[in-house]
Order: sequence, then C-alpha cells, then structure tokens
Amino acid sequence: MHEFSISSEIVRTVLDTVKKNDGGKVLSIQLEIGELALLNVEQVTFWIQELFKGSVAEGAKVKVKAIRARIQCESCGYKGGISLDQKDPFKHLIPYSCPKCGSFGIKVEKGRECMLRRIQTVRE
Ligand SMILES: [Zn+2]
Repeated sequence: MHEFSISSEIVRTVLDTVKKNDGGKVLSIQLEIGELALLNVEQVTFWIQELFKGSVAEGAKVKVKAIRARIQCESCGYKGGISLDQKDPFKHLIPYSCPKCGSFGIKVEKGRECMLRRIQTVRE
C-alpha cells in the first residue's frame, strides 16, 4: 500500500497544479524515483493511471526516470553508488552496507527520493 499512498499524493499534486495553472489536459508526467525509494515502479505507474481516470489527466503517460543511489561511508570515506540486487524481493529488509568495507554506517545522499519533475499539458 506504500505505492498507493505515494501515487495518490502525486495524482493530487498533478491535478492541483493543472487546476491552478488552468492547464488544460495532461499529456504526460515525469517522475524521478530513487533506487532506494523502496517503490515498485510498475505499481506506482499503475495506480497513478488508475487514479487519473475520470480527470483531466486520464490517459496521460507516466514516465519514470530512475535515480542512481549515492552513499557516503562513515567508516572508510567511500562515496558513490551501491550495487543492488533488483531480483531480491527482501532487499529492503536488509540494511545497506558500504561496498568497499562492508560497514553499515552509511549515509544515503541520493536515491530515496520520489519526485514529480514535469507535467506536460495541452489546451483543448
Ligand atoms: Zn566503507
């Protein structure tokens, strides 16, 4: 249900924005979702399209750009990406560790975000 609540929030933002700007019909939206956002992109897309039904955004394309994770290790100073096993459904249960020294004392600098980047509209 995590995906559902995020999706409803995005949908509300899109519809509010369009309404405020008197923007017509929504053609597409672009999202940026971090690797560590723990979101199933397919589900997010599905729910957004479901929630768009009956609104000015019905049928709009949902484009998703994946944002690579970036961490900083507090033990060895490593900065950079981490490798994620996308096929492991339990990956979110395991804390992320530093790829260099294995320490769990890491700070996530990037990769947890879920942002609405763009709304493309057309006037009818
Ligand atoms: Zn390290």
